[in-house]
Amino acid sequence: TDAVVSVRELQVEFPTQIGVVRALNGVTFDVPRGRVLGIVGESGSGKSVTARAILRIIERPGRITNGDILFRPGVEKKGGGRATKRNRGRTGAVKEAAPEAGTTDGSDTATRAPAETSQGVVDLTSLDPTGDRIRAIRGQEISMIFQEPMTSLNPVYTVGDQIAEAVLLHQTPDRNEANKRAVEMLRRVGMPNPERIAKSYPHQLSGGMRQRAMIAMALSCTPTLLIADEPTTALDVTTEAQILELMRELQDEYGMSIMFITHSMGVVAQLCDEVVVMYLGRVVERAPVDDIFHDPKHPYTVSLLRSIPRIGVNRGTPLEVIKGSVPDPYSTVPGCPFHPRCPSAMKGLCDTVLPVEAPVEGKPDHNVRCHLYPGSTPAEAASASAAA
Ligand code: SF4
Ligand code: MG
Repeated sequence: TDAVVSVRELQVEFPTQIGVVRALNGVTFDVPRGRVLGIVGESGSGKSVTARAILRIIERPGRITNGDILFRPGVEKKGGGRATKRNRGRTGAVKEAAPEAGTTDGSDTATRAPAETSQGVVDLTSLDPTGDRIRAIRGQEISMIFQEPMTSLNPVYTVGDQIAEAVLLHQTPDRNEANKRAVEMLRRVGMPNPERIAKSYPHQLSGGMRQRAMIAMALSCTPTLLIADEPTTALDVTTEAQILELMRELQDEYGMSIMFITHSMGVVAQLCDEVVVMYLGRVVERAPVDDIFHDPKHPYTVSLLRSIPRIGVNRGTPLEVIKGSVPDPYSTVPGCPFHPRCPSAMKGLCDTVLPVEAPVEGKPDHNVRCHLYPGSTPAEAASASAAA
């Protein structure tokens, strides 16, 4: 299948005074083109770090220490708005959302292969994190929306002006036309009175409205890939459902790819086509959404599924929580990182041997990393435990 982004063996480390934290430890997955990929896991699993690595906005001193992130822009974008000097003002800086020079990770670009191949594939890990190429990609090809819209919306400009600025950059050079399209985008994301909202400042809007405004802004550059990092977590259930439905509609309409980060299997069920389950900086299972819900393999995935609230059944009662908590990232768990919490852990195997990712039998697009499944136990370990 056609992947818009292929993450391969990605490793990200944060040196600290008491040791190196490996936030990502060999992460591999594809973001399928024109579909919604869900990245699910508890906090500390590496979901946000993965997103930030793709955009090259990992905070110093964190850095990518291994792996590739292959980006395939694909279809030629209409409008052809390449970044120019005037784009750097106003919302240009806001839209990039984070990095000023010197705040991004310092991967050594000099020793790496050329960034772009003849097929137009870009290895994002080889780009200078403060350079023009990644800035252009962040502005035009890959947009990101965050849990807190105020981190991307500029408080001193009206919502309409900020969206119009993105439209000017990517769709039309005509200011009046851009203003009209900004209002249209606001209507499109379900704003009740888009003309009035366009003239509002971010602080005048509710959380749900701000989130819609941010989505409108992210979409106004018609990105190839939209990365959404828990964009609905701070919203009430009704607003969340509306936003998810909206994203699904817009995804269909624009044909873009979405990478949606969440800790909620309920959100995954509503929105996603494919799912990557992460635990402690590793991918433990990845599969089409139906397999995740109807034929989950990894014990961690199974426990996440049990934590979904059932409306009418246990509304108002506490969710079932997974036993134990995510281990301290400073400590290295030997064997399978999930073994201290796993109800199926096998003594002498799970606590000593790290399982590898392997395809589930008969399902080439379903992968799992767990000793319960034969392909996951490295050959030497398998024969050693058979001999014992
Ligand atoms: Fe549980 Fe062992 Fe599988 Fe890890 S490898 S998830 S401890 S059964
Ligand atoms: Mg996060």
